[in-house]
Amino acid sequence: MSELERKRKSGWEKITEDLEKNVFQFADEYMNYLNQAKTEREIVALSEKIARESGFKSLDEYTELHPGDKVYFVNRGKNLYLAVMGTKSMEEGVNIIGAHADSPRLDLKPNPLVQEGEFAYLKTHYYGGIKKYQWTAIPLAIHGVIVKENGEKITISLGESENEPVFTITDLLPHLAKEQEQKKLSEAINGENLAVVVGNRPDDEEEKGKDRVKKNILKLLNKKYGITEDDFMSSELEVVPAFKTRTLGLDESLIAGYGQDDKVCVYTALRAILNVQNPERTAVCLFSDKEEIGSMGNTGMESHVFDTFIAELLNKSRINRPNLLDKVFCNSRMLSADVDAGSDPLYASVSDPHNAGLIGYGISLNKYTGVRGKSNSSDANAEYVAFIRRIFNQNSIKYQLAELGKVDIGGGGTIAYILANKGVDVIDCGVPVLSMHAPYEVTSKFDVYSAYMAYTVFFNN
Ligand code: MN
Ligand code: MN
Repeated sequence: MSELERKRKSGWEKITEDLEKNVFQFADEYMNYLNQAKTEREIVALSEKIARESGFKSLDEYTELHPGDKVYFVNRGKNLYLAVMGTKSMEEGVNIIGAHADSPRLDLKPNPLVQEGEFAYLKTHYYGGIKKYQWTAIPLAIHGVIVKENGEKITISLGESENEPVFTITDLLPHLAKEQEQKKLSEAINGENLAVVVGNRPDDEEEKGKDRVKKNILKLLNKKYGITEDDFMSSELEVVPAFKTRTLGLDESLIAGYGQDDKVCVYTALRAILNVQNPERTAVCLFSDKEEIGSMGNTGMESHVFDTFIAELLNKSRINRPNLLDKVFCNSRMLSADVDAGSDPLYASVSDPHNAGLIGYGISLNKYTGVRGKSNSSDANAEYVAFIRRIFNQNSIKYQLAELGKVDIGGGGTIAYILANKGVDVIDCGVPVLSMHAPYEVTSKFDVYSAYMAYTVFFNN
C-alpha cells in the first residue's frame, strides 16, 4: 500500500548487506563487459557468445520452436534479437525489452587518410549528437572492419591494450586560443578539424615527393593488415575513447565509462533474459543499431527485420496465419530500455527538480520524451504505466517517473515510438546518466542493478 505522500529516497539508504553485495558484484561484471566491447558490432558478437554459452541457439538451428526454447538472430552483425519461447501462445502477446548498441562516436570518412603539414591524419564525420570539443585532447582508439573487394573482412581494434599506440585529436593551446574562446561552444571546434593524428614520420625510402608521412602510414597499414588506401572505401571504422570503464568515487558508488548510452541497458537486458526459464509469455530482447542517428537503415529499428524475426518465431511455432503478426504486436508489451538524463546539480537549471531522474534513486521511467510540447513522442497509456507500477512495486523494484529536462529546454527521442506504432504498449525505462553522449558517461551502480532487476521482473510478468 502506497503512503499518502510520495517520498523520494536514495537506493543506498539503509541498503541491506545482501543487496549491496549484489549491486557491487553486478557492477564489476558490467564494467568487464564494457571493457571487452565498444562498438555495436563488438557488443553483438560478445552478447551472442554469452547467449550461446547460456543455451541460446540461432534461429536456423531450429526447425520447430517449443515452449522453453531459447533462440536468437543476428542481423548483419549489428542487431541481436533473443527470445525465450513462452508456454502461452504468442498470439496473446510477447514481452519485449529493446535497447540500442550504438553510441555516439567519430566515424572515419570514406577517404580518411590525408597529410597536412608533416602530420598524417584520419579524417572523421561524427556519428550522433556530440559536443565536439569533448573529443579533442583525449586518448582515442579505432575499432571496426575493413572489407576488401573480394569479401575478406579484417577486424580492427587498435589503441586498447597497453602495448598499442593510441590516437588523439589536437586542440589549440590556451595561449593562442583567445579568438577560439570567444566563439560559441558549438562552433569552437570545426567538424572538419575532428581529424585523428596517426603519424609524423616521413617515409625514408623516398627522399623527395609529396605526402611522405602518409605514404609511410600506408606502408605500415599494408604490412599489418594487407590493405591499400582504396580499401578504406569499404570500411566501417569507428573512433572511440581509449579509456577503460572504471569505478568512480571514493565511495565506489558510481561507474564512469564510454558508451553507457545505451550499452548499460543492453547489458542489463541481456542478463535479464539469460535468467528466463519457461516463461508464460514469450520473452524477447532486441539490440538495435543507428538509434543515435534516427533509427534508419536496415539495422535501425525502423527497418522490418525485427518484424521478420517475430514472424519466423510464429512460423516455427507452426501457428502463423495472415495478419497474426499485427495481432501479436497489438497484444505485446515493451520496455524501451534507453538511458535517461540524470539530474546534474552543476546544471540544475535545465531540470524540473520534481520530475527529474536522480542518480542512485533507481531505474527511470519516461512516460513520454519528445521536444517542445511532447512532439514526436510515444506517450505511454496510463493503464500500461499502472501495470508497470504494479509489477515493480510487487517486486520491490526501486523506480522513478521522470522527464528529460524542463519544458521547452530541449528533449530527445528513443525507439519507443517505433514499436508503439505497431500497436505495442511501450514505456521508456532505463538508467539515468550524467554527461550523456560525452566520451566518459556516469551511472550509479545501484541504478544499473535496479535496471537488471526491473527487466527480470518484466520478463516474468
Ligand atoms: Mn540512447
Ligand atoms: Mn543517445
